[in-house]
Amino acid sequence: MKTAIVTGGSGGIGSAICRMLAENNYFVYVNYSSSKEKAIKLAEEIHGSAIKFDISDREQVNNAINSIGQVDLLINNAGISEINTFDSVSPEKADRILNINLKGTLNCSRAVIPDMIHRKSGVIINISSIWGQCGASCEVDYSASKAGVIGFTKALAKELAPSGIRINCIAPGFIMTDMNSNFSESDLQLIKNDIPLGIFGTPQDIANAVMFFASEKSSFITGQILGVNGGMNI
Ligand code: NAP
Repeated sequence: MKTAIVTGGSGGIGSAICRMLAENNYFVYVNYSSSKEKAIKLAEEIHGSAIKFDISDREQVNNAINSIGQVDLLINNAGISEINTFDSVSPEKADRILNINLKGTLNCSRAVIPDMIHRKSGVIINISSIWGQCGASCEVDYSASKAGVIGFTKALAKELAPSGIRINCIAPGFIMTDMNSNFSESDLQLIKNDIPLGIFGTPQDIANAVMFFASEKSSFITGQILGVNGGMNI
């Protein structure tokens, strides 16, 4: 049985990814930083294990990943967002967005890579965002962090391809989760009007793309960014 870690595994998209991986015979570590009950409940449901660490804290990440041992698949999914004008975001919040979304992705990848290189095998899948590709007004720090995840994916994919490690990235469009729970009905309708397929995405849509990148069906694919966005960015 292969072992996967899903950061932010208790969240909307993360929990769909965890369930999908478990259905496909992975032992899944459901990472959380504060949602302990949700993570434990999900881990019980999928016969995995909940594991607490803050991805922005390198020491916590290293200790947690060392305690797991071999990791075959890392899904860098945890992230936070903030909707506000650029100059209204507090310096603390701006640092937190970059430290979690970008540095957290780097921290977790750094921790799993030495063993993957040693074994010449492993897969990393990063969850960026459509806003990392296009930029979003009033989500400037978030867009910058997610664009960083795209650059990171491409560079690390080149560096680690000779070691047999594949790194790909998914850029979700608008997916109905808690992250988007603050939008009003009228805002939601306006957003929907910008989606050519005319529907919002679901966490399952992202889990399906993750499963493709995790599987041997994508064995000749690395360093790619897959938009899962209903045609919102073409
Ligand atoms: P969500 O439901 O709010 O889940 C976010 C997850 O991140 C939570 O499980 C949270 O766990 C975890 N997290 C936050 N800070 C953390 C930290 N320091 N260490 C470890 N875990 C941390 O959001 P979501 O919609 O599922 O988003 C998942 C990913 O998809 C994010 O990277 C997001 O940027 C990306 N994305 C989402 C959308 C969308 O429309 N929903 C679109 C594009 C991209 P705790 O509660 O335990 O902190």
